[in-house]
Amino acid sequence: MNVFSHPEFDNHEHLSFFCDPETGLKAIVAIHNTSRGPALGGCRMFPYATDEEALRDVLRLSRGMTYKSALANLDLGGGKSVIIGDPRKHKTEALLEAMGKHLESLGGHYIAAEDSGTSVPDLKVMGRQTRHVAGIAERAGFDGKPSSGDPSPATAYGTFIGLKAAVRHKLGRDDLKGLKVAIQGIGNVGFRLARHLKEAGAELWVYDIFADNMQRAVDELGATPASTEDILFLPVDVIAPCAMGAVLNDDSIPQLKATVVAGAANNLLEHPEHDQALKDRGILYAPDFAINAGGIIDVFYERTGASPGAVRAHVDTIGDTLTEIFTRSDHSGRPTGAIANELAEERFRKHVTPVNAMRERVARVG
Ligand code: NAD
Repeated sequence: MNVFSHPEFDNHEHLSFFCDPETGLKAIVAIHNTSRGPALGGCRMFPYATDEEALRDVLRLSRGMTYKSALANLDLGGGKSVIIGDPRKHKTEALLEAMGKHLESLGGHYIAAEDSGTSVPDLKVMGRQTRHVAGIAERAGFDGKPSSGDPSPATAYGTFIGLKAAVRHKLGRDDLKGLKVAIQGIGNVGFRLARHLKEAGAELWVYDIFADNMQRAVDELGATPASTEDILFLPVDVIAPCAMGAVLNDDSIPQLKATVVAGAANNLLEHPEHDQALKDRGILYAPDFAINAGGIIDVFYERTGASPGAVRAHVDTIGDTLTEIFTRSDHSGRPTGAIANELAEERFRKHVTPVNAMRERVARVG
């Protein structure tokens, strides 16, 4: 297994491989870049078929967090961890505590949050052994309502703000009355996004593989149910994919009728060249890691402390960042995903905050 010459290595600062035979823990922590601050990212548990698969995933995801946090102007770097194992079979309190001990040994250079295969209660178990876990504190959320640490409300609100910025840029309108939006995936983020849109007067179409999730949006928000075949291809203004990645691809892009794509799901483009394919069709794509940053912003402030109003004001800046991306894309003729990467690189390469001072600050409040 190659590490330094791995295709996804991309100058990672630090990689740790943890093994605890007593509990069966096998984990990798990847820290991509800490020029803006300590690396924060989810801890994923998945039954990877090979060590190579786990390494590839953690490197790719960790790098993505550097870009997401930098683009959101957070004093955070990018990192991620993976535990190799089936969360339904191998997850025990002892294994999670062993993971907590290993996280503690990294001295706060990496901070873990929940991800697929781990939950807030799992992170709390890790937290018995380390302070370096996030997204677990009960507090007033960005909207002033009690929050369990779940980042979904902030992600949904940020996606709504980003969608509005995209509509303003592409369709030249501020008000969403009668705007037609199709949402794929009515889960934690999708339902909340639907509610924001409904309150702003938009007309909604929804689809979810679970009929009860879809029915809730029909009953409570007056949305129109759609099907898996047509949800992305309806004659609407905006599509908001909020379920899974890779839905923008060679098959789907030629069939899209919407002129704006603004959804929360990660890794929406199947391949990087689909960025250009959307631009060629005159479709404005709000890059996923820019529009779905509300959750990481919320988790950041859990550690540093801030009023709900300050958190909300930071989430609101997602709209400004997207407008900057769209404008640069218009001026340069290059697609929005490429511009978002470039802007993130500017933000993490030029950052001037002394890293040590930032680490001390996080350690103090942690
Ligand atoms: P979730 O699991 O609560 O919701 C996803 C929904 O999509 C579920 O209701 C599921 O039934 C549905 N779904 C799955 N496959 C589908 C398909 N083929 N067609 C239609 N619906 C399908 O997850 P979530 O927290 O709402 O996150 C949604 C997306 O946003 C994910 O891609 C996630 O990675 C991304 N994201 C979430 C957050 C967050 O704070 N929750 C932050 C950043 C990015």
